[in-house]
Amino acid sequence: MSPTLMLSVTIISLIIIFSFIWLIIKKKKQYHETNPEDKPYSFQPYSIADSAEHSWADENTKEKFDCVAGMDEIKEELREIGDFLLYPNKYKSFGAKIPKGVLFYGPPGTGKTLLARALANEINAGFIYASGSEFIEKFVGVGAGRIRALFEKAAKKTPCIIFIDEIDAIGITRNTDNNSERDQTLNQLLVELDGFKQYEGIVVIGATNRIDMLDKALLRPGRFDRQIYIGIPSARSREKILIHHLKNKPVENDVNISKLANRTCGFSGAHLANIVNEAALLTIKKEKPKISDEELNEAIIKTVAGLKNKDMILTEREKKLIAWHEAGHAMAEYILNGTIAERITLIPHGQALGFTMSNMKEENMLIGVKEMKNRICILLAGRAAEETVFSEITTGSQNDLKTANEIAESMILNYGMSSNWKNRVYNTQTCVNISKEINDEICSIINESYEKALSLMKNHSYLLDTLSFELLEKETLYQSDLSQLFKAVAI
Ligand code: ADP
Ligand code: ZN
Repeated sequence: MSPTLMLSVTIISLIIIFSFIWLIIKKKKQYHETNPEDKPYSFQPYSIADSAEHSWADENTKEKFDCVAGMDEIKEELREIGDFLLYPNKYKSFGAKIPKGVLFYGPPGTGKTLLARALANEINAGFIYASGSEFIEKFVGVGAGRIRALFEKAAKKTPCIIFIDEIDAIGITRNTDNNSERDQTLNQLLVELDGFKQYEGIVVIGATNRIDMLDKALLRPGRFDRQIYIGIPSARSREKILIHHLKNKPVENDVNISKLANRTCGFSGAHLANIVNEAALLTIKKEKPKISDEELNEAIIKTVAGLKNKDMILTEREKKLIAWHEAGHAMAEYILNGTIAERITLIPHGQALGFTMSNMKEENMLIGVKEMKNRICILLAGRAAEETVFSEITTGSQNDLKTANEIAESMILNYGMSSNWKNRVYNTQTCVNISKEINDEICSIINESYEKALSLMKNHSYLLDTLSFELLEKETLYQSDLSQLFKAVAI
């Protein structure tokens, strides 16, 4: 390159860089002129409370109760709380105490945040969102300061709902880990809740999935004295949630939503919203005009098992091991429960190599000992098939074992289903070190179920082999294929 050419290239590059920097500065200036309240981040200790609120200040959050599918009783109860907030005098004249705090507890993704936000919009109240972890800092006193700032902020925009997500981050039982910052923060929250008088027109809604971890002081009357469980939706609620999310989307007429609801047993509202969204994206990708069962099914699989993992290449031996493992699950499910799996596949999805999607019957509210043991046996059947056919066991059963152990543990610890100490239950918080006796009981349930799974595999080896060979050939077997195979091979 000649020196003149080099010089001109350098000059042009410099011009481009400087114009770029100038553009950015100009844009920033314009932004702050049009958004004077949105100041650049500053390192004041209380700024988190401000920034947390900012994330909810935008006008997109206009959801009202009609955006929350189902949960009619909960909405009714919340309406009552809204009434306390709007018309405190009505209640005062009767000498009634107005609740200050409501605790939503239950698994994630079940609509706790959505409900709180909808309540605020429903009654036209202010809404401040904060997450428990924002109040836990390294420096003692900072969290407590933020709590104070949060309530001061709310007091300026009454009627107002303060929503504290993951409140367990603050409200965990005191003195368990000598964290004096956390203790101070919790104490400050208690002070604010107790001293509410000056903050009339504020209701605090806390959300947690670990109510058992919360300091009892938080749950005392006058604090979070209303506790509302928000659980995984039932089949009917799932149907309502699916209808709600499919409402404004183009959907084929033959999509059967109630069938879809039956196939998504155990899914949260967030899972269902995600399925509908994934199905919409798949439809767009395939350039189809409307969402059909095919995309919805694909979206369910994606949510359950993760994306198809096309990069994972399995050896022939691995494929065989997986085929017999999955066939073991499906066969045990058929023999023990009389149900036929939705599908079994050898195609890796996410981290799972193959998987069996069980036929999800509607969840029973009451589950007997026999059914729990059957569940464990079906989970262990994959490994039992490996051992029976290949005389070896593999790492492929990690998740099966985890779930099977959890069920066995809960039988002994929570449900008094031990054979030696019938009806004895244990406090999982205090029995940190599981005693030898408890461990022996858990082991005996697991061993008994594994032995049963092994004998199932041995006694029905022809069926197991037929299923596995078919699976090896076709890679995925659907319920109809399985049904035909089960019929063809008498058990
Ligand atoms: P949580 O606070 O319990 O973790 P969210 O309120 O954040 O759950 O819910 C996540 C998303 O799941 C919501 O934004 C919504 O799209 C969907 N969702 C959950 N429950 C429902 C419901 N009952 N009706 C409609 N959508 C729901
Ligand atoms: Zn398995």
